[in-house]
Amino acid sequence: MTSTFAAEFTMTIDGLPVAGTSWIDVTNPADETVLAQAPDCSPEQLEAAVAAARTAFPAWSATEYTERQKVLHEMADAIEADIEPLRRLLAREAGKTLDDARGEILGLAYWLRGISELRLPETVNEDSPERRSVTRHAPLGVVGAIVPWNYPLGQIGFKLAPALLAGNTVVLKPSPFTPLATLRLGELLRGVVPPGVVNVVSGGDSLGPWMTSHPGIDKISFTGSTVTGRKVMAGAAGSLKRVTLELGGNDPAIVLADIDVPTVAEKLFWGAFGHNGQVCLAAKRVYIHSDVYEPLKRALAAHAATVRTGNGVTEDVRLGPLQNRAQYERVLDLIRDCEDHGYPVLTGGLPADGKGYFVRPTIIDNPPEHARIVREEQFGPVLPLMRFDDIEDAITRANAGDFGLGASVWSADTDAALAVARRLEAGTVWINEIQHLTPQVTFGGLKASGIGSENGIEGLLAFTAPQTITVTPGRP
Ligand code: NAD
Repeated sequence: MTSTFAAEFTMTIDGLPVAGTSWIDVTNPADETVLAQAPDCSPEQLEAAVAAARTAFPAWSATEYTERQKVLHEMADAIEADIEPLRRLLAREAGKTLDDARGEILGLAYWLRGISELRLPETVNEDSPERRSVTRHAPLGVVGAIVPWNYPLGQIGFKLAPALLAGNTVVLKPSPFTPLATLRLGELLRGVVPPGVVNVVSGGDSLGPWMTSHPGIDKISFTGSTVTGRKVMAGAAGSLKRVTLELGGNDPAIVLADIDVPTVAEKLFWGAFGHNGQVCLAAKRVYIHSDVYEPLKRALAAHAATVRTGNGVTEDVRLGPLQNRAQYERVLDLIRDCEDHGYPVLTGGLPADGKGYFVRPTIIDNPPEHARIVREEQFGPVLPLMRFDDIEDAITRANAGDFGLGASVWSADTDAALAVARRLEAGTVWINEIQHLTPQVTFGGLKASGIGSENGIEGLLAFTAPQTITVTPGRP
């Protein structure tokens, strides 16, 4: 095996580098070569990581809030200082463009600083001569953070920043498809956070289940598919862990008749095809009023033709490969299903044979509601456009199915769009934009898209438990 990266990747346990006793291959999705190897964490190494986090918890949770805020800022500084090598690594392993990888790393730094400004509330329940009762929010202990491969570093900001700020310690596990940038992050943080406060472990398919059932972990903060989310919840039940689950989505976009076609076409194109649709909050099915269906369809297809797909580290490429073979095969299967059923494929389609998981943006023209490409989460660059005449019909179709993550409504008439938005079953609904998240704004899914939320005060509180302390004055 020849590694593109000379240095060995190590886990971070108790502030120290830990090599694997065995290793997993990490594939470059642009050419299917082995990019590097990551440690395959053993059960004993996970024990050591959990023990280190437990040992570090009393001191870390006892630090002043302002001290923890300062550490989050120092983490952000350390990440930004290393952005060049980190973005090359992230772009290669995740199949991103260098610009997207840079944006994701800056986003992580922004999240660390933004979350650090949140304050945990204290509620005075009673303040009388007899009694003073105050509810505060105490940290939980050790948090197990499990993230997917689409935003390996970006997702970490949603978990690591609030978990640490609230006073918890963390065992962080990246996806086996994209562990490298996260392992490097662990290295960077060794000099910034006290030993044991942030532990980074990597490994194969057994590691996540070991974490969810581990009695020494108090909470699992999970982002990934709904199928895995169900397993996480079942795994956590034995030790009655708290869970936050950010799961899959099949986000509808509803386009009313009064839009400006070129403006909406460009925004919707990137809202659906950015990072090849491998975004939980991508527009995954688009319902378009008949009056603008044909022009918007043509504009989206024309936009697709201008976008270059290729190795993300190459100049001018806007879309890289899909991140892994399983996802690539799944997307091809969905395109094949459209072809087999005779749904018109406007652009893109099945790729020619070759190395790398490349699929050009593919648009499907008005498939029926029961088509797999409409009902299932594609998590890839295949977008069904559907025509509607009656907004009631569009709302019913948008709300059909198990998911309820995000949605968007597009119209020049804000009141009309708001009236639609309020009736959509989704944790976040955007009007005339899409995927805008900030550290201050709570985000989470309804229905099978998740339990609990991330970011904002609710996201911070999710790493705490309420504790009420009542003081009765005088000598007992
Ligand atoms: P996945 O569920 O396969 O894996 C996610 C993580 O869980 C990985 O780290 C994986 O190793 C780990 N894992 C796998 N099996 C496990 C188990 N039994 N117990 C514990 N951990 C286990 O998801 P993926 O394919 O990496 O990501 C794509 C999915 O994630 C899509 O459905 C997407 O919509 C969803 N997603 C959701 C959000 C959100 O915020 N709601 C954000 C990004 C991605």
